[in-house]
Amino acid sequence: MLPDFFDSVVQLITRTSTDLPPDVRAAMGIAVRSEATETRAGQALTIIAQNIDQAASCEGPICQDTGMPTFEVKAPVGANQIWLRARIREAVAEATRRGKLRPNSVDSITGENSGDNLGPGTPIIHFDQWESPDIEIKLILKGGGCENTNAQYSLPAELDHLGRADRTLEGVRKCILHAVWKAQGKGCSPGAVGVCIGGDRTSGYLHAKEQLFRTLDDTNPDPRLAQVESAVMNEANKLLVGPMGFSGTTSLIGCKIGALNRLPASFFVSVAYDCWAFRRLGIRVNAANGAISEWLYREGTTPSQPMLSPEAAAAGFPRTGREIPLRAPITEEQIRALKVGDVVLVSGPMYTGRDAVHAHLMKHEPPVDLHGAVLYHCGPVVVKDAAAGGEGGWKVTAAGPTTSIREEPYQAEILKKYGVRVVVGKGGMGAKTLAGLKESGAVYLNAIGGAAQFYARCIDRVTGVSLMQFGTPEAMWHLEVRDFPAIVTMDAHGNSLHRDVETESGAILETLR
Ligand code: SF4
Repeated sequence: MLPDFFDSVVQLITRTSTDLPPDVRAAMGIAVRSEATETRAGQALTIIAQNIDQAASCEGPICQDTGMPTFEVKAPVGANQIWLRARIREAVAEATRRGKLRPNSVDSITGENSGDNLGPGTPIIHFDQWESPDIEIKLILKGGGCENTNAQYSLPAELDHLGRADRTLEGVRKCILHAVWKAQGKGCSPGAVGVCIGGDRTSGYLHAKEQLFRTLDDTNPDPRLAQVESAVMNEANKLLVGPMGFSGTTSLIGCKIGALNRLPASFFVSVAYDCWAFRRLGIRVNAANGAISEWLYREGTTPSQPMLSPEAAAAGFPRTGREIPLRAPITEEQIRALKVGDVVLVSGPMYTGRDAVHAHLMKHEPPVDLHGAVLYHCGPVVVKDAAAGGEGGWKVTAAGPTTSIREEPYQAEILKKYGVRVVVGKGGMGAKTLAGLKESGAVYLNAIGGAAQFYARCIDRVTGVSLMQFGTPEAMWHLEVRDFPAIVTMDAHGNSLHRDVETESGAILETLR
C-alpha cells in the first residue's frame, strides 16, 4: 500500500510547522511595513518577521505551541480510511519525535502528557470522499493561546460597547468586532478569524475553523458575506489593538465567513481566532504510491521569500539605545525604577513555569530559590542534544511566551510568597496580578508571542530542569539567557498597558455600533 504516504505526511507536518504560506507572509509583510520600526508595534513585528525567517531557514517550529493538528482529508471512493488514519497518526508521532511538533496531547483528567501527540481526540482527522483519484490532505496547526480566544454568540445578544446584536448580518458584524476586541493581544495579534453564521453550537465552531483553510487574499463568492468581511477588516484595524495588543494599526490580517442552515430557534455566530503564526498547508498525493504530486497554498518546494532583507535580518532586534539591561537576581529598587513602555534586555538565569508549575507552587516550596528571579510563562520545545552540553544535554529549539492570563489565579500569591521580581509572558494579566506586582515590587514583561525561534536564540544553555513529572512543556526549565528583549506592560506602580489599550479600543468600538 502507498509506500511514500507516511513520508509525505511527515513532510506536510514539518513544512506546516516551520514555514508560513505565501498568503500569510504577504499579509504580515503589509503589517510590518505599516508600523513605524521604532514603535512597540514595529519592534514586535520586526521580531516576528525575523522569527518567520529563522524558522524557515532552520526548519524549526515557528511557534513553540505547535497546536492541535487538524487534518482535512479527501480520499477517493474505495480508499482504506482506517489505513490512512493509522499512517497519519504515525506521522504525527514521528514529527513529534523529530521536534517539529511539541508534545501537546494531555490527558484531560490526570494532566499526563502522552509524549507523542497521540491520544483520544488528538490529532483531529476528518475524512471526506471525492471523485478525484488522488488524496488531498490539508493541515492546520492552531495553538492554545488563540484557541482560547475563540468565541460563540447566541443572537440576539447585548455586547459590550456595541449594544444589541440582532439576527442580521449587521449583528454578525458586531459579534466579529467584539471577538477581535475581546481577544486583544491574548491570541497573538494580528490574527485572522474564521466565522460561521448558523449551524448548531458544534457544527458552527467546526465550520468557523474550516474557513481558515481559505487563503487570506481570496474573495467570498457570496457578495453579502464578502461585504461583511470587508467591513470587518476595515473596522477591526481601526480599533488600534495592534500587534500583541501593544496598540497599532494592524489588529487583523484576515476575516473569512461561511454560513450553515440553522434551527429557527437558534442563531449562533461562531468565531475561530487564529494568530499571526497561521500555519496551514496542504498536499495532493498520488493514490498509487502516496508520493506528493502537488503542494497546496504554496509553489511546490520553491523556497519561501524571506520577510526581511539580509541587512535587516543581520541587524537583529531593532534597538533604540533606550533599552534597559536587567540581570537576575534583580532587586526591588531596579524594579520600582521601571515603568510601562520600557524595553528591557534580560540576562542571567530564567525559570520557565506555566499551568502545572503555578498550581504546584501554591502547595509546595519551589525547587529553586526564586528570590529576585525571572519566571517565564513558556512551554518550550526541548530536545536531547549531546553537543548542547550543560546538565542533561538539553537544547531548547523553540521558546516563545505562552498566554499569561491562565496564571491569574496564582500569580500574585507566588510573587509574594517566593520573591519573584519579573514575570515574562504574553497577553498581559488581570487586576489581581497588577495589585500583586505593586505590593511585592515586581513587573510583568510582555515578550513577543509566537517568536519561538527568536527567543530560542537568546538562550545560551539549559542549566537544569525540575518538575519533569509534568511533561516537557510543563516542567520548570532552568535557562541561562542573554539580551532577551521584552516590554514592561505592567509595572510596580499600578500601571497596565493592557488595561489602557482595552479601554481605548473599547471607546473606539463604541463608535462602530
Ligand atoms: S503565536 Fe501565540 S497564539 Fe499562536 S500558537 Fe504561538 S503562542 Fe499560541
